[in-house]
Amino acid sequence: MARPRRGRRGGGGVSQVRDTVTVMRARVCSKVGCAREAVSTLTYDYADRMAAVGPLGAAGDPHAHDLCAIHTERLSVPQGWVVVRHETLRT
Ligand SMILES: [Zn+2]
Repeated sequence: MARPRRGRRGGGGVSQVRDTVTVMRARVCSKVGCAREAVSTLTYDYADRMAAVGPLGAAGDPHAHDLCAIHTERLSVPQGWVVVRHETLRT
């Protein structure tokens, strides 16, 4: 007589709700014609003529451009601009 155990209903003991799931959306390079995976985020600071490169930032920033490894290395900025590379970025 094997009777399955009765699940507790309404007890709130078992919760299947996972609200900590991180949505890992594939971020791709923002360069035209490049579909590589983005590894860094480039942010332009027009006021200071600075281009800051760092780890992938929050998505949706209109001033941030995601770059793949190649374009991160080949990053070129207009004359007079300074490129700031964050130390945490692995090269
Ligand atoms: Zn690229």
